Amino acid sequence: MSAVNDDITRALDRAGDELEQLSRKIHDNPELGYQEVKACAWLAEFLAGKGFKVERSVVGVDTAFRATIETGDGPTIAIMCEYDALPAIGHACGHNVIAAAGAGAGAGLAAVRDRLPKGRIHVIGTPAEEGGGGKIKLLRGGVFREVDVAMMVHGWDTWIPHQDLLGIVRVGFEFTGKAAHAAADPWEGVNALDAVIQTFNNVSMLRQQVRPDCRIHGIITNGGAAPNIIPEFAAATFYVRAPRIDEMWKLHARVVVCAEGAARATGCTLTVSDKDNAYEPMKRNEPLLALWRRHLGALGVSESPEVKDRLGSSDVGNVSQVVPTIQPLVKIAPDGTAIHSRAFEAAAVSPLARQGLLTAAKAMAMTTADLLGDAALLARVKQDFQRA
Ligand SMILES: [Zn+2]
Ligand SMILES: [Zn+2]
Repeated sequence: MSAVNDDITRALDRAGDELEQLSRKIHDNPELGYQEVKACAWLAEFLAGKGFKVERSVVGVDTAFRATIETGDGPTIAIMCEYDALPAIGHACGHNVIAAAGAGAGAGLAAVRDRLPKGRIHVIGTPAEEGGGGKIKLLRGGVFREVDVAMMVHGWDTWIPHQDLLGIVRVGFEFTGKAAHAAADPWEGVNALDAVIQTFNNVSMLRQQVRPDCRIHGIITNGGAAPNIIPEFAAATFYVRAPRIDEMWKLHARVVVCAEGAARATGCTLTVSDKDNAYEPMKRNEPLLALWRRHLGALGVSESPEVKDRLGSSDVGNVSQVVPTIQPLVKIAPDGTAIHSRAFEAAAVSPLARQGLLTAAKAMAMTTADLLGDAALLARVKQDFQRA
């Protein structure tokens, strides 16, 4: 290991308790997307304390931040932090670890800033990954325009350098019928809940006719007011996912037809609302992954093979379509722990999570230092991005 990497390792071992506390504080104060006021402030404070220049409310997104260290003219490397929680189950996606690992990588680099090659390091706080598309807003606002390479990690139950991501679009269906007494005058009513249930039945039949790597799943967000009133209004939200963006839009069209058929059958009127923040699949970058693997190996981690059937989606996919990006998975939970589960929420503050957090912070800091100092490597990364 080089002298700089040795010092990064030592600095992060020293910062271990502080980073674990930061991670736990975020975990124990779960905040939903775009409401991550505390997490954003704690991270900004931590990075400012390490010598970063911190901008808050970047491009008008209140809970986004950008922390910068500049050592001269050179490439710009971005390390991303997520810190939003899930409704009802808190930090069951482990974004507290993502946040602390990203801030930790920044701290590791700050500790060796006098010896870093010339360039710029951004630690970017990207809110609302769980459906709100924070990175899409930051992309549109130009936050990634000057960035040469972006990286972040995500918690998982094994170490996997690359995992594909599915494209995802979210669609809302609102059905309007006509209220009537459900016992005295049911024939006067038009049942909007029936339209929602029929939509689910249509989608269930559609599901057999789609490829196994596509996913369609929904919840009822409004199912009526009382059992003795024929529901005059009912609504559902569906997520539609596919490995390619064109396939995703084709599948989305078929799901909309499922709702239209249900509206027709029940006599309801339908309003379709598409969220303007489709997440794109993850673009893979081999030279970046090779670099990550090398540092991870040197840190004593043995990786697991890619998993082809446990696929999610993230707005980091959108970043990866614009800038060479990696999102390696970091072991923070025992093997076989399902993500978005209560068990994963508990694991996200376990000793395993601390270990994953520190190792990931070290590997991201080392990867960043290499990219700043090796122009040929950066050229290979960019070439791979153009080719893919
Ligand atoms: Zn999640
Ligand atoms: Zn997540």
